[in-house]
Amino acid sequence: MNAVIVHAESWCGRRLVMRSSGPLPIEVVSRSREQAIGVYYRAAFEIEREIPAEIEKHELPNVMSPVTHFFTGWVFANCFDLERKDRALITLACVAPDIDGLGIIPELLTRNSTHPLLWFSLHHHSLHSLMFALVIAAIAFAFAAQKWKTGLLALLSFHLHLFEDMLGSRGPDGYQWPIPYLAPFSSQQYIWRGQWGLNAWPNVLITIALLLVTLWLAWRRGYSPLEMVSARADGSLVAALRRRFPARTAV
Ligand SMILES: [Zn+2]
Repeated sequence: MNAVIVHAESWCGRRLVMRSSGPLPIEVVSRSREQAIGVYYRAAFEIEREIPAEIEKHELPNVMSPVTHFFTGWVFANCFDLERKDRALITLACVAPDIDGLGIIPELLTRNSTHPLLWFSLHHHSLHSLMFALVIAAIAFAFAAQKWKTGLLALLSFHLHLFEDMLGSRGPDGYQWPIPYLAPFSSQQYIWRGQWGLNAWPNVLITIALLLVTLWLAWRRGYSPLEMVSARADGSLVAALRRRFPARTAV
């Protein structure tokens, strides 16, 4: 072997930095993401075995915050006259696509093992598809009080998530998550070139605005997303808000 071959370009919203402290130079190759992952782990394995080298891997998962999606879903649900359970279903539909991001847990746990599970790297965004949107809408339909209304709104809410991801979930290293909207029937992926960064100011602004609207809704209507977990906590929040900002006229 004349060189250790690694992929040192950014992929999956991460950047690989490899420094060789051994006698062999490091050669950089870049093809598909899957190949890069395979090459990286093979190279890492060989480096550990044969060449003293330092491998530095920045491991920050880049997903548009599920918190932003959650508040988007909540504010969206509150645009309609719905009961508590249906509001929750529509709100959760807006977070649902990111279930595929849970692969980060086994990946982080196994990253230093000999058989790392690349569930996040390989499958993140794989549920950002029309197929999964229909599954979520069907689940919402099944559990809702107002079935058709909630099912359709859950479908829309899911798409709001995809729209937000299109707008601003670019990683700090410039990687843009494509949306595999037609998976598994087509490998066509969608991306918007103007996509801004995950930590860019519009995301922060959107999240703060959604939070303020959520608090205003709680103050005005007497319920907040806390109603999903505890009626008592929800009541306490509303009472605190109304104490802090007493209404000039009865609400
Ligand atoms: Zn997402």
